[in-house]
Amino acid sequence: MKVKCPTCGKATEYDPKNPWRPFCSERCKLIDLGAWASDDYVIEGEPGSADRMTPEELESVARYTFERDNRQPGRRR
Ligand SMILES: [Zn+2]
Repeated sequence: MKVKCPTCGKATEYDPKNPWRPFCSERCKLIDLGAWASDDYVIEGEPGSADRMTPEELESVARYTFERDNRQPGRRR
């Protein structure tokens, strides 16, 4: 299943083998998390602390972001 990377819009595979899903890369994921943390949402700890999150936290955030973006197509970019 292909999804558009929420950060750069590039088509990427939404697959358990892709650790950065729904993003195309770690870079795009961290960019999105950074924007997210400094925007309306604060994840436990200080904003911009995404690089210190556990894989489980990153996964739940990624899933939330993916679902959010699918509800509001075109909001990002
Ligand atoms: Zn991307």
